[in-house]
Amino acid sequence: MKTAARAAGLGTTIFTEMSALALQTAAINLGQGFPDTDGPPEVIEAAVAALRGAHNQYAPLPGVPPLREAVLEHQRSYYDLEPEDLLITFGATEAIAASLLGVCDPGDEVVVLEPYYDSYAACISFAGAERRPVTLAPPDFALREEALRAAIGPRTRVLLLNSPHNPTGRVLTRPELELIAGVCVEHDLICISDEVYEHLVFDDARHMPPATLPGMAGRTLTISSVGKTFSFTGWKIGWCSGPTELVAATRAIKQYLTFAGGTPLQYAAAAALSLPRSAIETLRDDLGQRRDQLCAGLDAAGLQPLVPAGTYFVNADVGQDAVEFCASLPERCGVVAIPMAAFYDDKAAASTFVRFAFCKRAEVIAEAAQRLASLA
Ligand code: PMP
Ligand code: GLN
Repeated sequence: MKTAARAAGLGTTIFTEMSALALQTAAINLGQGFPDTDGPPEVIEAAVAALRGAHNQYAPLPGVPPLREAVLEHQRSYYDLEPEDLLITFGATEAIAASLLGVCDPGDEVVVLEPYYDSYAACISFAGAERRPVTLAPPDFALREEALRAAIGPRTRVLLLNSPHNPTGRVLTRPELELIAGVCVEHDLICISDEVYEHLVFDDARHMPPATLPGMAGRTLTISSVGKTFSFTGWKIGWCSGPTELVAATRAIKQYLTFAGGTPLQYAAAAALSLPRSAIETLRDDLGQRRDQLCAGLDAAGLQPLVPAGTYFVNADVGQDAVEFCASLPERCGVVAIPMAAFYDDKAAASTFVRFAFCKRAEVIAEAAQRLASLA
């Protein structure tokens, strides 16, 4: 039966492919980024209470009031941001899709830092828009002004950002964000900012939402979710906030993608955001220890890790073609990881680099490190 070219071109996501490979080979899955433990028990209890407490019908389209209040308070207390409007979504993923469909017309161009999260390319193409990648290359994955300026043209409408950045683990610095803000203002661009790893930053790194830079609040849609911060990636409760027109366009699309649901989990997400700051700090510090553990393990295995400033991921130079390396890794030592090339249009940019997820229990990381060491 004939189906749309749009669907055929998408294939299967690298995450699904690699998680299936891990299951099939009974390998340790350091591919898809999801924690192997649950988030805070009191948040789970809040979900149970909401399920038992008659919160089981459609949510209002903009989201349930307690979660809306909690997100606004979060933006205010962490970043001093007072967005004009806010929308609760099915994960950050829906906010990314609905915002791109809400702001891009066919033929518009979206500048995106590559390597990029895979849903960006798909959603840009659903909108009939075109992506213009700006390549971040190892070992520093720094944003270069010439590369950014070269990607911008008369049809550029959106700069789609992600910091802390999946898959590099980089946190954009203030000078890089100032460059981005300057370019957005100069070319009158909309900034869509995916900040799902906002709280997962280590050592001296600080996350700074682009919306906090001069000239940016009125042109930036800020997106996040509870998945990564609180280790509930399967809940898919997210949000976007920013200027009235950008949120309204996103909401207009969202009402026909999914309308509004996940109602009990919206209540539980409000409980998560209302935990004391120390709860997030504990999750972050624990994750930071596992980052150090996996980096040490990669080092011992002779794979050169690039110690990340944030996210769930560390990249390592495996000194050979990473696609082939990852394809044979489960068989050779029972570990699954993802080649960085999966996130690039420019396949040569980081062809020997592999992404490993460290959001796993210490004993799982220890076992994976031992297995990787057996390669040497
Ligand atoms: N953006 C990035 C950069 C991600 O890594 C992820 C993780 N899946 C998402 C968005 C999706 O977030 P959510 O699960 O809240 O839809
Ligand atoms: N964000 C997760 C990762 O980068 C995967 C999410 C998904 O499977 N779509 O590993």
